[in-house]
Amino acid sequence: MFDNLSDKLDKAFHILKGHGKITEVNVADTLKEVRRALLDADVNFKIAKDFTSRVKDKAIGQDVLTTLQPGQLMVKLVKDELTELMGGDAAGVNLSGNPSVILMSGLQGSGKTTFSGKLANFLKTKKNKKPLLVACDIYRPAAINQLHVVGEQIGVEVYSEPDNKNAVSIAENAIKHAKANGFNVVIVDTAGRLAVDEEMMTEIANVHKAIQPQETLFVVDSMTGQDAVNTAKAFNDRLDFDGVVLTKLDGDTRGGAAISIKSVVNKPIKFIGTGEKMEAIDVFYPARMAERILG
Ligand code: GDP
Repeated sequence: MFDNLSDKLDKAFHILKGHGKITEVNVADTLKEVRRALLDADVNFKIAKDFTSRVKDKAIGQDVLTTLQPGQLMVKLVKDELTELMGGDAAGVNLSGNPSVILMSGLQGSGKTTFSGKLANFLKTKKNKKPLLVACDIYRPAAINQLHVVGEQIGVEVYSEPDNKNAVSIAENAIKHAKANGFNVVIVDTAGRLAVDEEMMTEIANVHKAIQPQETLFVVDSMTGQDAVNTAKAFNDRLDFDGVVLTKLDGDTRGGAAISIKSVVNKPIKFIGTGEKMEAIDVFYPARMAERILG
């Protein structure tokens, strides 16, 4: 994960670690390399620039040049700043409702259906919950089937109404069904499009308004880099979602979305998807991710 970024940051710190006497120029060069590494990882220019200027201020504040191991202190400053940028403390998912309703949003292909299954499985096996999955894609029968396949795989019931073309009423009926049958979590998988479009946004906004979920998650493919961040912004403007799910982190992703998304929408990354299997889900911990990136 993020091997390229890790390599480049490692090289950036070589400048500091290699010199006998550290100078202001060495520190400036290192920060320049750090910024370049972030830009190469598809972090947008302003975020990368602000990032290095914050690290620089802290380095000056802590009088980095007079410490015994300036190289290590710089690594720590970058790691702390990276943690902060990716979200600070880890954020949980709100399960206070009865049932707790979780609405999934995101583009088609982002991994919504797969993640709905993963989350249901996670809540069932790790949190002792009784989840109900709901198929609210009224356009693609294949999407409904896909959720049924996933549900069967993990032993979780799937609610669907193949002949109902009203997503709001399917979601409302599913919640009634959950209440009547003792389900304490309802995970609503919605229709996605290949790109942001008004009809899709209106539909999901209507579902959101009608069912008032405890938690709205935005699912995004981390391979899409800056596009991931732009899509997040468009969905957040309409839904004011609670958290982000970054999928496909097992692929050859450069890391830009993971690093930038929080600072653009000011919502935490809550989970990551790391494979196609139902078990390939992790709670996102910013500090652990920063540790992983910087080694
Ligand atoms: P949806 O259209 O948003 O519901 O997306 P799907 O759940 O159908 O996922 C689209 C494709 O991405 C499928 O082939 C999934 O198997 C795959 N996929 C989903 N999540 C991950 C992940 O974390 N890693 C990898 N490698 N593939 C994933």
